[in-house]
Amino acid sequence: MTKKIFWENPYLVELQANVTSVMGSDITVDQTIFFAESGGQESDHGFMNNHRVLKAFKASKEIIYTLDADHGLKADDRVKMVIDWERRYKLMRYHFAAEVILELVYQKWPGIEKIGAHIAQDKARIDFIWGQNISRIFPELDQEASKIIAANQTIESAFSDAEAEKRYWKIEGFSQVACGGTHLRNTGEIGQISLKRNTIGKGKERIEIFIVSTQPSRPESGSISESKEKVPFGTDIDFNPSTESAG
Ligand SMILES: [Zn+2]
Repeated sequence: MTKKIFWENPYLVELQANVTSVMGSDITVDQTIFFAESGGQESDHGFMNNHRVLKAFKASKEIIYTLDADHGLKADDRVKMVIDWERRYKLMRYHFAAEVILELVYQKWPGIEKIGAHIAQDKARIDFIWGQNISRIFPELDQEASKIIAANQTIESAFSDAEAEKRYWKIEGFSQVACGGTHLRNTGEIGQISLKRNTIGKGKERIEIFIVSTQPSRPESGSISESKEKVPFGTDIDFNPSTESAG
């Protein structure tokens, strides 16, 4: 089993691990911060030592990483993995934007059925079966989502069943939802969102979510203390910690 440190701390960008097996260009490690595509959230990008990870995929409780064929790693070797934080943080922000939108749709418009979702670093989309133009619900949906984001509510993430690796996120007073993705700590980190409708066939409606603000609200001060933990801001964001109070 690969120990999934990205659940314990989704803000870690660097981790030392031991190689546990090698099968050609594929390797496994004892612990990881490198997310493999699941639940619609795309895989991370990054490196194991100086080898780019070409593919990451789940096989039961293991995660298998495909490197270049001449990686030369052996079992018991030590590797330093580094993930592309800018990409991961965008994926986390888009992922949680989609969580909030989906949950609001479920709560406020029962009868709309979700048939798919995809989280990329520049867009999230959720597909539904619904016989009406889904943009009709956008004014209220947008308003409710904005309230949750503006309230900068705490997002708890934990196991519902550690043995089976089942996880959930929870926002007090809003919802508790099963999900094995990487989640933000606070809703304010999402930033301002914008919704767009797309049609994907008869009776099928797509909500596309875009994050329009580059700077999410300030995370709580206690969340950025660990040494190899990234301050939860992308490197593209103009942010100067010296001018801001830490809480
Ligand atoms: Zn999730």
